[in-house]
Amino acid sequence: MISLTAVDDRNLLWHDGELDAEAPRSMFLRLSQRIVMMPSGFDLTAHGIHVRNVLRNPAPSRLYEEAIRHESGTTIADSGALIAYSGQKTGRSPKDKRVVRHEASEKNVWWGPVNFPLDELTFMINRERAKDYLNTRERLYVIDAYAGWDPKYRLKVRVICSRPYHALFMHNMLIRPSDAELATFGEPDFVVYNAGQFPANRYTTGMTSGTSVDVSFELGELVILGTEYAGEMKKGVFTIMNYLMPTKGVLSMHCSATADPVTGRSSVLFGLSGTGKTTLSADPKRKLIGDDEHCWSNDGIFNVEGGCYAKAIYLSREREPEIFEALRFGAVLENVVYDDAHHHVDFNDATITQNTRGAYPIEHMPNAHLPCMAGHPTDVIFLTCDAFGVLPPVSRLTPEQAMFHFVNGYTAKVAGTEMGVNEPQATFSPCFGGPFLVWHPNKYAELLAEKVREHRANVWLVNTGWSGGAYGVGQRMKLPYTRAIVDAIHSGTLKDAPTHTEPIFGLSIVSRCPCVPDEMLIPRNAWASPDAYDATATKLAESFQRNYDALQSGGPLGAMDG
Ligand code: ATP
Ligand code: MN
Repeated sequence: MISLTAVDDRNLLWHDGELDAEAPRSMFLRLSQRIVMMPSGFDLTAHGIHVRNVLRNPAPSRLYEEAIRHESGTTIADSGALIAYSGQKTGRSPKDKRVVRHEASEKNVWWGPVNFPLDELTFMINRERAKDYLNTRERLYVIDAYAGWDPKYRLKVRVICSRPYHALFMHNMLIRPSDAELATFGEPDFVVYNAGQFPANRYTTGMTSGTSVDVSFELGELVILGTEYAGEMKKGVFTIMNYLMPTKGVLSMHCSATADPVTGRSSVLFGLSGTGKTTLSADPKRKLIGDDEHCWSNDGIFNVEGGCYAKAIYLSREREPEIFEALRFGAVLENVVYDDAHHHVDFNDATITQNTRGAYPIEHMPNAHLPCMAGHPTDVIFLTCDAFGVLPPVSRLTPEQAMFHFVNGYTAKVAGTEMGVNEPQATFSPCFGGPFLVWHPNKYAELLAEKVREHRANVWLVNTGWSGGAYGVGQRMKLPYTRAIVDAIHSGTLKDAPTHTEPIFGLSIVSRCPCVPDEMLIPRNAWASPDAYDATATKLAESFQRNYDALQSGGPLGAMDG
């Protein structure tokens, strides 16, 4: 008798857990073949990766199983979402982002505080380090999926990672291929090597920390070292789209988008992190096209992603029911705190970070519109979170003002999304997406101007930030008011609403809007001291002009957003 403990039991004869020694020889041969030919996974040798146990596009339930088995700390919330932790980095690390300087692209890239150059050799060193690390892993995960819903422009993306949570995250955030599409996927256009659990070598040329996020447009690759924050992967994909799309006359935009369920015409909401793109796009009266990254082509708009990545801090079922419900089985909850007894998540707990997040496939939203494409926008909305409380809740912009505000991208960095930002900081982030731009902001601004003109879109500036005084004195604009403003834009009410031209910024302030108190609409009236308002507004207007001039002269920027 030969005792067997754990062998594939499908093709072998068993007698009460023991294999009969009298069994025919062929059976032993079959047995030994099975042992030698261990189920080998997806082949990554073309990527220089020789790990045998590679799962490609596993189902979410399989990724749950992997995460629970192999990652201590990972668990399941009472809602069914997978709870995972990104370790030390709980936000993006823009100062550690590098772009390979290559003769093919160097004239195109807007070098400076957003795109720090990296030489090719150093990129190869970091890439090798990432692969070396991945090669030490017992098991790896591959997600092959698309970026961009319009088949004309979509990219085939491959993510190679060692954490099941990262795989589930990108399964949610990219556009999931059908089985048939996966079978004929072929070679990817863009590869993400996520070795975030392993640091960069700080003595490697040009490294300023143990974190490095490096993109090469020529190789079509992103290498991640020293950060496990999942958002780096999705914004890395956005960066390559921001490089490629303008070469095809397509505008890539850091915005959310919704569409009218009847006419199909869309609107886009631009805004830096925390300004309300995701929150305001969860609107039951509209179809959801996407919450963060879109492109505007001659055919209309399309989402880059297959999922949403919502801020979860202070999330409540009452205020944001759709997002709350979307954080169920299949969703990833990142860096949240839960109680041991019930695995109930406390969304008000910011102990780990202000930047708690939930990533879910867009189908989890009841108003999702599939495929995530829509007609040309009727309205382009710039969301700004003004920490000084001087910008009006809503103003109508002339084409010139639109370009000025778009290129400036004034906002406040709200606590959380970037490491080290714990209270609002006034900043300028060109095109409301500075950290992800590749070309000079003017390139995107020209494309926007062209499309707005051609499709006669209205452009609005909406302040979702402070009102009645600066941060510390005034209050953040109440969400229902901002929702009412966005509704009134969509219904066309604001197009004909009365306006008041204020002298400092020259903005046409909308002075009447359904469901918003009149006294809130004109910020000077909402401040306790009009003189204090004038002084603060004047200072801010001056910094707008300084920033704009610096951008146009190519000189150093003031409070640039890294
Ligand atoms: P990111 O680019 O990081 O995803 P985002 O623009 O999508 O950022 P949201 O996730 O929508 O930002 O976050 C906006 C946050 O601000 C939410 O937590 C929302 O509840 C809160 N908030 C408070 N007041 C308002 C308001 N008036 N308008 C919009 N959001 C508000
Ligand atoms: Mn968002």
